[in-house]
Amino acid sequence: MRTPFIAGNWKMHKTVAEGVELAAALKTSLADVSSMELAVCPPATAVAAVADVLKGSNIGVGTQNMHWEDQGAYTGEISPLMVKELAQYVIIGHSERRQYFGETDETVNRKLKAALHHGLTPIVCVGESLEQNEAGKTVPFVGSQIRGAFAGISAEEARRVVLAYEPIWAIGTGRTAMPEDANEIIKTAIRNVLTDLYDEETAQAIRVQYGGSVKPHNMAAFIVMPEIDGALVGGASLQAEAFTAIVRNALAAL
Ligand code: PEP
Repeated sequence: MRTPFIAGNWKMHKTVAEGVELAAALKTSLADVSSMELAVCPPATAVAAVADVLKGSNIGVGTQNMHWEDQGAYTGEISPLMVKELAQYVIIGHSERRQYFGETDETVNRKLKAALHHGLTPIVCVGESLEQNEAGKTVPFVGSQIRGAFAGISAEEARRVVLAYEPIWAIGTGRTAMPEDANEIIKTAIRNVLTDLYDEETAQAIRVQYGGSVKPHNMAAFIVMPEIDGALVGGASLQAEAFTAIVRNALAAL
């Protein structure tokens, strides 16, 4: 059984004060949730303060990115050691990082290895563009992202990875994938490739979130899909009410 997992990606939103306020609200509104894993990923500047608010709660904290080196002359970056001091999760290879900041399958792979080495839970994002989708290239493309991300990673390590299938055309657009389509892509482009790379048991153990315009009204339709184990939520994670409703609707549907 894979424990469902819903995480909020706050992207470049929330000052420290705003982040603390949102975290405090979620700590109260979601305090009773025990059958689902929950996390928020604030911008790096707010991670320490948010982690402080959520200490001892059922909501974990993650960063939205990190470098693969422990330290060094990498201006503007944060290292796994720095993440580890404050957080348990790290988002790796979000499509916005790939699109605007030059992340590749190779850097994703390096970051994934570093996260696993340091005991962090990585949330690795994959997903196709609209052009790839319309050209019928989704399955080979997402499959190649999975192969690139997991290169050189053992089955034991792979089981600690969380994946997020996020079609780029669904992120922040209000347009979601059809739940059945997302389920099928996760099955064919993700679990089948993981079975090929490792074995069936490992492929079945890895959690896969759906991401892309998840809102309170559509969460249930995704979480009931057999291959979908939760959600990575962007815009709707910025308000306590919406994120709480997403979690509640997912719980009610399970
Ligand atoms: C995301 O940032 O990963 C995301 C899915 O964003 P949104 O929910 O806003 O589409």
